[in-house]
Formats: sequence, structure tokens, C-alpha cells
Amino acid sequence: MQDKRLFYINGQWTPPSKTQDFDVIDPSNEEVCAVISLGSEKDTDLAVRAAKNAFQTWRHTSINERIELVRSVLRIYETRLKDMGEAIATEMGAPIDFATEDHAPACISHTENFIHNLKNFTFEHSLDSEHPHDHIIYEPIGVAALITPWNWPINQVSLKVFPALLTGCTCVLKPSEIAPLSAMLLADMIHEAGFPPGVFNLVNGDGLGVGRQLSSHPDVDVVSFTGSTRAGKDITKTAADTVKRVCLELGGKGANLIFHDADKDAVTRGVTHCFENTGQSCNSPSRMLVEKSRYEQACQEAKACAEQISVNTAHKNGPHIGPAVSKVQYDKIQNLIQKGNDEGATLLVGGTGRQEGLNRGYFVRPTIFANVTPQMTIAKEEIFGPVLAIIPFNSEEEAFSIANDTAYGLTNYIQTSSRERAERFARASRTGMVAINGLSRAPGIPFGGFKQSGNGREGGSWGLLEFLEIKSVSGWGYNCS
Ligand code: NAD
Repeated sequence: MQDKRLFYINGQWTPPSKTQDFDVIDPSNEEVCAVISLGSEKDTDLAVRAAKNAFQTWRHTSINERIELVRSVLRIYETRLKDMGEAIATEMGAPIDFATEDHAPACISHTENFIHNLKNFTFEHSLDSEHPHDHIIYEPIGVAALITPWNWPINQVSLKVFPALLTGCTCVLKPSEIAPLSAMLLADMIHEAGFPPGVFNLVNGDGLGVGRQLSSHPDVDVVSFTGSTRAGKDITKTAADTVKRVCLELGGKGANLIFHDADKDAVTRGVTHCFENTGQSCNSPSRMLVEKSRYEQACQEAKACAEQISVNTAHKNGPHIGPAVSKVQYDKIQNLIQKGNDEGATLLVGGTGRQEGLNRGYFVRPTIFANVTPQMTIAKEEIFGPVLAIIPFNSEEEAFSIANDTAYGLTNYIQTSSRERAERFARASRTGMVAINGLSRAPGIPFGGFKQSGNGREGGSWGLLEFLEIKSVSGWGYNCS
């Protein structure tokens, strides 16, 4: 068991002001793999103060200086990819190959892209050519509180920490208490790279403790949050009294529209994507909407695909999926599968109970329901597990309407060979992202949602803007020599 009780504050690993141990559980075997401390107000204050002091100098460092330090982190990171994969596999159950080849490298690609965009970012410019005396300046906003979830732990952390540091902000990171190990490993690398004290700080804690202390803190200028819509609402309210900026990346309930003219792999691609990361992705296409003429065939293909998906411990090599992250999450998924049964959906494959052949660990059976109606709970709630709901539709109009009939608005998907239909949907979809025919997204394309999926945009130049203030100056060069 790893002892991870210290926080990283003002350039040093620092003991908590009072003892509040918290066990980190390996979801593959339900054993305690590490112990961390949950911070208290004193720890939060210390970290925010360190960040506030460091901001006075860090904001004036040159872009090249910041890029050089971030590049040093990336060089260290590359040599420790295997350690990062292991930390992620242990803390949240992503199978080791997936953790090392998909989760861990995401930090490098996002950060390289931020550096690229930073180099091309115009920090100062005139309003337009007709108004040379009206000048726009982008400045770092100040102290950033970064609150992240467990499901893509280092991916989420890197989408916040590096744009904050590169734009000249200082930060306090509070990773998920369920999966803090990858973030703490990154803190080690940031330390080794030689960042000035106070520029980056990490305090572990839970949402109602350190989370709320950060969102309500008068010396925090922006909260960048990724997590549940429930917590996003609470953070918005808690932050209101200090009128700080709040950037939210929240839940989703993606629809994947499969039309009669979709390519032959559309269904299996959708099922595989839904079950990736054990269904624990905010952009999971967890509602599959299928045109009636292709519906029966799609159900058979989906069932066959799910039956091929194996489930196993995160510590084994291979392309299987791992456990759900925690007992709480396992129970929530079980309850929702039971709801699907109770509300009359047709269980095609999977169901309640632990995956056969595994006697411990939070292993959910890959589950598909057919004949789901948009009113059923499994069509409305974010399940965050390997559970797919298949919903039939008769017309394009009906499909578009079902896709948008949700409180969420993160990602929708469409599979069709009609370009006109795909583009009609891209415009009609009330989501921050639309994906057509399975093409993967380019690095730096903005990630974020509409409606209750949040208001933030991460990645590329949009991710930098979340940490910048805009200043307008009139009289720039006017009546001056
Ligand atoms: P969560 O909301 O329970 O926790 C996320 C983080 O917020 C944790 O660090 C937690 O300690 C903290 N937190 C919880 N309550 C808080 C509060 N009241 N004030 C301040 N901080 C608080 O979410 P989770 O279970 O860790 O993650 C899963 C959720 O994250 C899903 O809903 C998923 O869709 C969402 N998510 C969204 C995106 C996106 O980019 N839109 C990406 C990944 C995950």
C-alpha cells in the first residue's frame, strides 16, 4: 500500500494540517492500494496563498520560459509513461494496455497542442485596422482552482493544469479523491522539472471539503471543473458570492443515430465506443437510435458485439474492459440496469450481477437493452457504465427530436451515407460536439457541451482562453510621442 498523505504546496511535499486519512481502493480487487489525506481549510488556504504569491512573478515570465518548463515536464513524462499507466490502472481500473496506450499519452498530445496554439496566440492587437488607438490585451486571470474527476484522470488534469500554467496563471489542483495517484505522479514530475514554488499546488480532498473551499475562496479567480452536473451546479452556487469565473465540463447522454444507409460497421463501432473505458466517459454514445428498417439487424449485431467484449482485471494485458471505478458506481449501475428491466425494456445481453468468472472487483456485465423508449430512466440518466440503450425511430425528424430531448448537450453522433442529412443533423444537434461516421477528432478541436453538459471548452486555443482575461485600452498611442 502506498502512503500518499502529503500535499504539494509551495514547491514542497507538505503534511496535512490535520489527520484525515482516506483509502484509495483498487477497483479490480477491492483492496486498499494507497492512503491519502483529505485536506482541510488550513491546507486549502496555504495552497491558495502560495499560488497567489507566485502569480505576482509567474504572470510576468515570458511565454518561452513557460514553454521550456512545460516541455521539461513532458520529457520526464515520456520516460515514465509506464508508471503513469500503472497508476491509472490501479486507481480507476482502466486495463493496463489501455491505460498506458490511451489514457497516459493523452497528456502529451493535449499539452503539445496547447504549446502550438500558445505560440500562435496573439496576446495583443488593435481592435481593427480602423481603430489603431483601441487596443486589446489578453492577460492571465490569476489563481486557478482545478477540480477533476476520476474517469479519465490524467487527461482531465492535463487539460486544465497546462493551459493554466502556459497562460501565466498559477493553480491549485484538487484531483478526484477516488483516483488521485496519477495526478500526484504528475506533481512529482512538475517538481522535478523545476517550476518556481507556488506556481503549481496540489491538495487532495473531497468535494464538500477542499472542493467547496476552493470554489468559495476569495483569492481564487477561476474554477475550472470537470465532473458531474450535480457538483457543477453546487460549484456555480458556491462561487457566486465571489463572482469568480466558473468553467464547467459536465455529464452527457450522447445519442448515436444510425440511419438505414449507414456503413456496415456502424453498429459495432457504436457498441465498442459505448463500452470503451467501461462506459465511463462523458461523451459515451449511450443511446443508440436506429431507423426501423435496420432495427432488427442492428439489435443482432449489437448483441453479437457485446458478447465478444471480455471483462477482466485492470492488471492483465489485453483489450478487455475493466471494472467500474467504485462500489458506489457499481451499485448505481446495477440499480439502473434493474430499472431498465422494471420499466419494460428488452434485455438483449448482460444484466444485473457481477460478471461471471470474477469473484471480487466491481465488474459489471456489458449490457444492452432494446425497445427502449425515450421516457425510460435508462434513456434519460447518465449511467456511466457499460450499458447501451437501443431506441427505434421512424423518421429523420423523430430521430433528431429524440436526440435533443435530454437535459444534457455534450456529444451526438450520426452514421449515414447522406452528406446532406449528416450536415442537417450537425446543425440541428443541441450539443457542443457532433461526430459524423466515426471519424476521430483532431487534436485541439474544442471539447465541451451545451445545456447541462456545461459551459466550458477545453483543448487548443479555446482551452487557453478559459484562463485569460480580456482587457480593452482606448487611447493606445494617442497623443503620445
Ligand atoms: P463528481 O462530480 O462526483 O466529482 C468530480 C470532482 O469534483 C471530484 O474531484 C470531486 O471531489 C469534486 N466535487 C464533488 N462535489 C463537489 C462540490 N460540491 N464542490 C466542489 N467539488 C466537488 O464526478 P465524478 O464521479 O468524479 O466524475 C464523473 C462525472 O464527470 C460524470 O458525470 C461525467 O460525465 C463527468 N465528466 C465530464 C467531462 C466533460 O468534459 N464534460 C469529462 C469527464 C467526466
